[in-house]
Amino acid sequence: MEKCLFCRLAAGEIPSDTLFEDDRVKAFKDINPGAPVHFLVIPKEHIASVRDLAEHDADLLGHIFDVINTQAKRAGLVPNGYRIVVNHGADAGQSVQHLHFHVLGGRKLSWPPG
Ligand code: AMP
Ligand code: ZN
Repeated sequence: MEKCLFCRLAAGEIPSDTLFEDDRVKAFKDINPGAPVHFLVIPKEHIASVRDLAEHDADLLGHIFDVINTQAKRAGLVPNGYRIVVNHGADAGQSVQHLHFHVLGGRKLSWPPG
């Protein structure tokens, strides 16, 4: 089966502006930032969307949120705050079918999102 875009990015087959990586996850800057700070955190294993997560992913999710919080602090988003977004499906505008957590900050973010 052909690898998806973020599987290839996770494997280093396409370049990324990497902030952090280990054997399970990768954090990198979004190529089309929607805020002064906008990075993505992905699992290296292919999980297509948030709906494919299950109980056995609890450890991985805990690790992902640890990476999100560490990188958000490193990017200067503490204490002002940041937003974590996961888009799922067409109505939410998911464009890459590999689970990714957006982390946005560095400006006042409006609510509700468009
Ligand atoms: P979503 O619309 O929630 O699926 O988000 C996909 C995100 O991936 C968008 O914000 C894109 O700008 C971003 N993106 C797509 N390709 C790349 C890439 N090669 N490197 C970094 N970010 C990317
Ligand atoms: Zn993938």
